[in-house]
Amino acid sequence: MCTVCGQMFCPKGCPEYEMGGGIYICSYCGADIMAGEEYYSLSGEYYCSDCIYSSRRTAGE
Ligand SMILES: [Zn+2]
Ligand SMILES: [Zn+2]
Repeated sequence: MCTVCGQMFCPKGCPEYEMGGGIYICSYCGADIMAGEEYYSLSGEYYCSDCIYSSRRTAGE
């Protein structure tokens, strides 16, 4: 939690707020993974949920 604004993820008005960038970068598509966003961590690599969902398959179909 931020000690300045007291929130888990700083709003833009907070001096601790970091402009733009995400916390992680998706290893597959390069998209920023923002604070509070769902992501997947596999073998030390980070993937956004879009990439995971788009590569999801059902065997036999
Ligand atoms: Zn803050
Ligand atoms: Zn991605």
